[in-house]
Amino acid sequence: TKTAQALTVEGLTVHYGGVCAVRDLSFAVPAGEAIGVIGANGAGKTSTLKAVMGLVPRKVGTLRYGDVDLSRVHARAMVRHRIGYVPEGRHVFAGLPVEKNLLLGAYVRKWNAETRATLAEVYEMFPVLGEMRGRLAGALSGGQQQMLAIGRALMARPRLLLLDEPSMGLSPKLVEEILAVLLRLRSEGLSLLLVEQNAKLTFEATSSCLVVENGEVAMRGTSAQLRHDPQVRRIYLGL
Ligand code: ATP
Repeated sequence: TKTAQALTVEGLTVHYGGVCAVRDLSFAVPAGEAIGVIGANGAGKTSTLKAVMGLVPRKVGTLRYGDVDLSRVHARAMVRHRIGYVPEGRHVFAGLPVEKNLLLGAYVRKWNAETRATLAEVYEMFPVLGEMRGRLAGALSGGQQQMLAIGRALMARPRLLLLDEPSMGLSPKLVEEILAVLLRLRSEGLSLLLVEQNAKLTFEATSSCLVVENGEVAMRGTSAQLRHDPQVRRIYLGL
């Protein structure tokens, strides 16, 4: 049951009242691959992820995960299709202990030996969470909260993980740690859809990327191509 499946998104549009945040966006996350979406503040990256998850009203031509049509699947049911979501700003439950936050991520699963094994895997991947399992999540640093948010999503055993700006507000050293986590998840066969303002991190973590501007695809290509593109280097890498 480890087989990864492809996510296919065709003709995705998001409106907030009169504001068009995403316009006719199409992309795919092939099985087992990591795909990046980069763009400036307000380009429509968060709206894209939320629309895939069904968290904002959307119009979409095709939204499919493997054989499953997701266009009518409610956000709450996504996790049952093995799709995980790590929201922007982490949204951990600050008043609950670290371990309780993790267990909440497994709410769709039975509490059994398998769930315990997943918890052990999460603590193995993020030793600091194990050390702080009894502490309130609100007492963790920003980087630790980001690890917790990722760990919580992993508790549901996703095959595809959608991540919204995991590097936000983190020091360069912690961004390196996030990169290491993303590369490890890839090596374990997870598919990733990574939305980021940090283009450098994204190019290192993914095989190909979309560049979005004003809700539309401005450029797309392999991450290796894009990181050498003069325009991308100037606008998104500040080089
Ligand atoms: P950020 O990096 O700030 O998250 P983003 O690329 O993720 O930016 P979105 O958050 O998707 O961009 O926003 C895209 C556009 O939609 C922006 O113009 C934003 O102001 C607008 N927008 C986002 N959410 C809403 C909302 N709930 N109501 C109205 N407009 C919104």
